[in-house]
Amino acid sequence: MELKLYHLYPDVLNLYGDRGNVLCMEQRLRWRGIDVTVAGVPVGEPLRGADGDLFFIGGGQDFEQEVLLEDLAGGKAAEVKAAVEDGKPFLAICGGYQMLGNFYRTWDGVQCDFIGALDLYTVGSEKRMIGNCLFTCDDLGGAGLVGFENHSGKTYLGSSVKPLGKVLSGYGNNGEDGLEGARYRNVFATYSHGPLLPKNPAFCDLLLRTALERKYGRAELAPLDDTLEENAHRYMEQRLRKQP
Ligand code: GLN
Repeated sequence: MELKLYHLYPDVLNLYGDRGNVLCMEQRLRWRGIDVTVAGVPVGEPLRGADGDLFFIGGGQDFEQEVLLEDLAGGKAAEVKAAVEDGKPFLAICGGYQMLGNFYRTWDGVQCDFIGALDLYTVGSEKRMIGNCLFTCDDLGGAGLVGFENHSGKTYLGSSVKPLGKVLSGYGNNGEDGLEGARYRNVFATYSHGPLLPKNPAFCDLLLRTALERKYGRAELAPLDDTLEENAHRYMEQRLRKQP
């Protein structure tokens, strides 16, 4: 078994250790003897999504998102949209999450028309939403995921998109409706940096399983010794449950 992982804009979108998510997916596959090739797709290079099995997009400041508009319009937006519709698994974080949506109007009034792969939009607010966060994950039976958020954008989901889960501590999508992240087909989008996956190994395995099942129709992920990861996760989860 082997997977090809496309990392979009590794040169521009990488906040708060987002690249650690790619390292985590790679390593958890290798530990199980599953081959993985990681291909970065920087600005100016075309994305050929058809041969990708797993996609990752990290976060970025408003400025970086504005800079990417031209490159997206030059072909990547259409490739990403097609891959999403084709059921390819995606993990998108914060700025990358916003970019999968229809548009982002920044707090200072810049209109960014984005990919439109997910029926959602984002509006910037003057107050930034910053801090460690805890939210449930519906795909993991309501288990808690821990992360770190820092955004001014408030995201609102359309009717064809479900949330990833509910906020237990922190702000989530907009600090108003108690929802965090987005789910559509095999897209998993979240405001959580951290990096997210090393802090939540079960969520990493959910993404890997989704990619393997889509490609091979089955996924056997041998159990790993996650004692250290689980201890760190439990400590943060307990701490955040005490300070909603
Ligand atoms: N620029 C976006 C915002 O502030 C995303 C920030 C991020 O990726 N952390 O909402």
